[in-house]
Amino acid sequence: GNESRFAAICQITDREVLPPKTPSRLEELWATDVFTLNKMQACLPKDVFKAIKKTVQTGGKLDVSAAGVVAAAMKDWAISKGALYYAHVFYPMTNITAEKHDGFVSVQSDGSVITEFTGKVLVQGEPDGSSFPNGGIRSTFEARGYTAWDVTSPAYVMQTDNGVTLCIPTVFISWSGEALDKKTPLLRSNAAMSKAATRLLKLLGHTDVATVNSSCGAEQEYFLVDSHFANSRPDLLLTGRTLFGRPAAKGQQFDDHYFGAIPERVQVFMQDVEERMYRLGIPAKTRHNEVAPGQFELAPFFEAANVASDHQQMTMTILKNTAKKHGFICLLHEKPFAGINGSGKHVNWSVGNATQGNLLDPGDTPHANLQFLLFCGAVIRGVHKYGPLLRAVVASASNDHRLGANEAPPAIISVYLGSQLEDVFEQIKKGEVKDSAHAGVMNLGVDTLPEFPKDPGDRNRTSPFAFTGNRFEFRAVGSNQAVSGPLVAMNTILTDSLIWIADELEAELAKGAEMSAAAYTVLKEVMDLHSPVVFGGNGYSEEWHKLAVERGLLNLPTTADALPMLKAKHIEELFERTGVLSAVELESRFEVYSEQYIQVIEMEAKLVISLAKTVIYPAAFRYLSELSGTISSLKAIGVALEAESVEKVAALTKLMMDTVSKLSEALGKHDFASTEEHMQYSATTLRPLMDKVREYADALEGEVADDLWPLPKYQEMLFIK
Ligand code: ADP
Ligand code: MG
Repeated sequence: GNESRFAAICQITDREVLPPKTPSRLEELWATDVFTLNKMQACLPKDVFKAIKKTVQTGGKLDVSAAGVVAAAMKDWAISKGALYYAHVFYPMTNITAEKHDGFVSVQSDGSVITEFTGKVLVQGEPDGSSFPNGGIRSTFEARGYTAWDVTSPAYVMQTDNGVTLCIPTVFISWSGEALDKKTPLLRSNAAMSKAATRLLKLLGHTDVATVNSSCGAEQEYFLVDSHFANSRPDLLLTGRTLFGRPAAKGQQFDDHYFGAIPERVQVFMQDVEERMYRLGIPAKTRHNEVAPGQFELAPFFEAANVASDHQQMTMTILKNTAKKHGFICLLHEKPFAGINGSGKHVNWSVGNATQGNLLDPGDTPHANLQFLLFCGAVIRGVHKYGPLLRAVVASASNDHRLGANEAPPAIISVYLGSQLEDVFEQIKKGEVKDSAHAGVMNLGVDTLPEFPKDPGDRNRTSPFAFTGNRFEFRAVGSNQAVSGPLVAMNTILTDSLIWIADELEAELAKGAEMSAAAYTVLKEVMDLHSPVVFGGNGYSEEWHKLAVERGLLNLPTTADALPMLKAKHIEELFERTGVLSAVELESRFEVYSEQYIQVIEMEAKLVISLAKTVIYPAAFRYLSELSGTISSLKAIGVALEAESVEKVAALTKLMMDTVSKLSEALGKHDFASTEEHMQYSATTLRPLMDKVREYADALEGEVADDLWPLPKYQEMLFIK
């Protein structure tokens, strides 16, 4: 029966909210657990500090002799924070963060111990990483990969109940130099983009051009569910989502959760999360309730993409660990509950440098505008040429539940520019850059270039990729995903377009054209070829799905459709040409992500079967026997009771059992000609059968007596806090 469900409700009702911590002043908390440049400056010899600062700011190579000095200072600092261990932290191709801990301890010949941390171990580590998926890059005889210090992301101490550890962000590569992780391609894509952007900026007449860097601000959505409920839902614990569950009568239809008052217990949790983030130098900035009941959002202030990406991984870890302390489970799954909104991670992205500023900021000078239009045009071209790549980097079994559903962007990649900017590009396409429809706001003309209002007020929430004033916002990214994949894709497609634009521009200038005329010619060419990707209408609508296909855009609804795009010739060439990923590295990513997709669906299917057999049938049988018993006893005393409900429950149970059998049988198939075929099978055979089983189970939940239903229900999990 539902003893555990009732017990959970009682325990939650009696739960004591952790007292809120006395808030510390931000200045006292900020980056106390980070080995910042300031801390280094205070303890390093001048020349060493200069060397490391240069490396951090320009991403160049660090002098080996400097590493030893830095290591010693880092160790002293970490030990002063209570650390006895250090760890090289790396990001394998799974979405997790991996770390191997080593002690500072070193035993001397006389049996005494000292603490030791050399430049060599700071710079390079050799974790036994052979069980990380590598998509066939490393054969077993050279199974080891090694980690190498990423000087551009600061070291920090992680304080947990288990102790304090010095954490060093690293890349994870094979001995032959192939990237086995998510950080290496991000660093490479940033360097490639910087090179291409610098070239264009110089062409535009800038003499002083600093390294260009990409920036990222990722908005993280998540659900909180009380751990007493989660603990009696094996599906939540194992898969992060509910495989069964009848939507509650009350969902999000009243819009009473979005930006509503944050429940006390949740607010205490959020403050705890933010304090941990501040200590680690992660600039938590906004928090609010999201659309669905039990759903919340956290967004930091944006940072350099590489650091933001490490910080995003830390944020996900902090959210999950802190939730446990507060008696919650934090769900980062893209669709934990059917029938209400899922969770995304909007990745805000821009590129810029110290001398020219944000290159995606329209600015207010004509010159800046020309530059802006070229960078913006480069993005438009990239999204059109490589839309399927953008779709592939957000593909996962869990994000499939969200993309294309009612609240999330469709699986068709298009760009939203806002009506004013769209208008400007339309005019460029027509070859008539003149007054826009928005008279007074725009000041257009052949020699006077457009002026944009600082913050275009119109926002289109239905677009997967939108310009939002001074950055692009990639909204198709899933809440559970690492941001590095999307960032790599955006940086790389931009690189390709910037190179193309610089080439075209040079050719025009060589013909004797003036800069602004040359730029408009190139921009017109961009629009002639790539305007089909620009779409300002409702991305959720049926009409768009039709129109998109007419425009030649691909609709790739599932991961099985999207991942094979990584093997497309033009995408392979894109990565090779820009030096971001070799063909082997790209192939290995396809293999690893495909494997993950197949495994997730298989694991879920197995759990569907076992929960059906061991949890749902028994509830249905008990109810059936109770019902039929009552009906026959009543009949014995001459009272006739309608047998309709018995029949209904019996019929549903029977249908469910038949479908479960089909699913079991379908799971038995193992002979597939290719990974692609196997993925399609998971998408088109297994998933629909699982959905069908769920449909019957959820219908049963609506029939079976409440006190016999064992799984915590939606209204309980979503509304009891
Ligand atoms: P909204 O919900 O309106 O999209 P939020 O304030 O929740 O806005 O999040 C916007 C995110 O975009 C924040 O993380 C913010 O720091 C980030 N952001 C702002 N400007 C830039 C930029 N130039 N480059 C990258 N990210 C940016
Ligand atoms: Mg937002």
